[in-house]
Amino acid sequence: MLHAHLGRQAVVIGAGIGGLAAAGALSELFDRVVVLERDNLPSEATPRPGAPQGRHLHGLLAGGHQALCALFPDLEKDLARAGAIPVRVSRDFCENGPESDRPRRDLGWSAYMLSRPLIELVIRGALARLPNVTVQPQCRVTALLATPDGRRVVGARYAAPGSSEETIAADFVVDVSGRGFPTLALLQAINRPRPREMEIGVDLSYATAIFSVPRSQRFDWSVVLTHADAPHHGRRGVLCPIEHNRWMVTLVGRGAEQPPAELDGFMAYAERLAKPTIHDAIRNAKPIGDIARFGFPASVRRYFDADTIPDRLIVMGDALCRLNPAYGQGMSVAACEALLLKRVLLTRRDEREPLDGVSVLFHAQAQSVIDGPWQLAALPDFAYPCTRGQRPDDFEQTLRFSAAMRRLAFHDPAVDRLMTEVAHLLKPLSAYQDPELLRRVGAELTA
Ligand SMILES: Cc1cc2nc3c(=O)[nH]c(=O)nc-3n(C[C@H](O)[C@H](O)[C@H](O)COP(=O)(O)OP(=O)(O)OC[C@H]3O[C@@H](n4cnc5c(N)ncnc54)[C@H](O)[C@@H]3O)c2cc1C
Repeated sequence: MLHAHLGRQAVVIGAGIGGLAAAGALSELFDRVVVLERDNLPSEATPRPGAPQGRHLHGLLAGGHQALCALFPDLEKDLARAGAIPVRVSRDFCENGPESDRPRRDLGWSAYMLSRPLIELVIRGALARLPNVTVQPQCRVTALLATPDGRRVVGARYAAPGSSEETIAADFVVDVSGRGFPTLALLQAINRPRPREMEIGVDLSYATAIFSVPRSQRFDWSVVLTHADAPHHGRRGVLCPIEHNRWMVTLVGRGAEQPPAELDGFMAYAERLAKPTIHDAIRNAKPIGDIARFGFPASVRRYFDADTIPDRLIVMGDALCRLNPAYGQGMSVAACEALLLKRVLLTRRDEREPLDGVSVLFHAQAQSVIDGPWQLAALPDFAYPCTRGQRPDDFEQTLRFSAAMRRLAFHDPAVDRLMTEVAHLLKPLSAYQDPELLRRVGAELTA
C-alpha cells in the first residue's frame, strides 16, 4: 500500500545493497519501482561479477541492520530462516589488538553473520513480495535522459538481453551503481561540473578463503578480529561464521604487503598477523574452493550540490561515498541513506511538485549520514606514512583522543558501549562531545 503518492515510476540503477534498500524505500511512495541491474542475478547465494567484493567478508552493523529492518519489516525473520548466524556483539568477539585483547562484554544486542550474496538474496526475496517493485537483471544502464535544459532527469536508456537499447521513463532516478558512471556521463553531456571529490589513497589488498568449521574443536568465540599494528605493519585478519557451517577468513594488507591467493602463502600470512588466534583456528580446517582477491585503492567521497546534481536524480551508496572497508560500514551507510531518502521524500508529500528540489535536499542531508563513518574509517589511515591525501590539521589530536577513549573503554563498560554504538552507527560521533566524557578523556590525556 502506498504511504504517500509522489510519482508514477521510479528507476533504481543497480541491485547491490544500496539499490535494493532504495527500492524498498521508494516502494511505498511510487506506483512502480523498477531496478535495472546489469548482472544476471543468481537464484542462490553465489557471488556475481558486478559485485566482486561479495566474495569477501561483509559484516552488517547494527545501525545498518536497523535501517534495513525499518525498510523491510520481516527482515530479521527472513535472515534467520535463510541461515544467518546471530552472534552477541563484543561478548562473542575475540578482538586482538597489538598490545592487549579487547574485553568481551555482553552489550545487549546481536549481529547477524552471513555471506554478502546471502544478504542480497534475502533482500531480493523481500522485494519480490512487493507487487509494485520489479528487479530487471541483465539490464545495463547506458545513459540517463534529461530535459533539453538539463535541469531534470526524465528516464534512462539501457541495454537489455535480446534487444538493442530500451528507454524507460522515470519521475525519479536513484543511481546506486557502485561507481556512479551513469551520473558522471550525464553531467558531462549536459555541461555540468563533476562533483567535488575527496580521496584517501590506501592501496589495500584483500584475500578471502572459506573453510568448513572443524567439528572436533570448540572455541569460546564466534568471530575473531586481529587488528593491524599501525604504523609498523598493516596486516589484519577477520574470521566470521557464515551460513552452512563455514568460516569466512579475510586477510588484509597495505601497500606492498599483499595476502597471497594460494593456500600455503595464505596460511603463512595468517601466521604473521599480530596474534595467532586465526591461524590456530584454520590450520586444521578444510578449505572450500578458491581464494578470492580484491584490491581497494582509495576511499572516495563525493559532494553533489545545486550546481552539479540535476533535479530528480539521487546518487547513493558507494557511488556517493566509498569507504575503507576495514570498519564494515558500506552496506550500512547505504541502508541509512535509503532510509533518509524515504524520510526526505515524505516531508515533501504535501507539496504541489513534491519531487522538485529533493535532490539538493537529500545530498545536503546525506553528508551528515556519511560524516561519522568517514571520520571513523578514513582518518586512521593517516597513521600509515604511505597513505595519500589531505591529512586533517587536527589528525594527531584525533589519534590521541581515540587512544584515550580506548584506554577508558578497557576499564569502563559504559564507555565501551558508547564506542561500540558509534562504531555500529547507532549513535553519531557527536555523542563523544558529552562534557563529562570530555573531562575524563582530558584527564586520561594528561595522566
Ligand atoms: C573487500 C571489501 C569488503 C567489504 N566489506 C564490507 C563489510 O564488511 N561491511 C559492509 O557494510 N560493507 C563492506 N564493503 C563495502 C560494500 O561492499 C559496499 O559499500 C556496498 O556494496 C555498497 O553498495 P552499493 O549498492 O552502493 O554498490 P554495490 O553493492 O557495488 O552495487 C552496485 C550494483 O550496480 C550494478 N551496476 C553497475 N553499473 C550498472 C549499470 N550501468 N547498469 C545497471 N547496473 C549497474 C552492479 O552490477 C552492482 O550490482 C566491502 C567492500 C569491499 C571492497
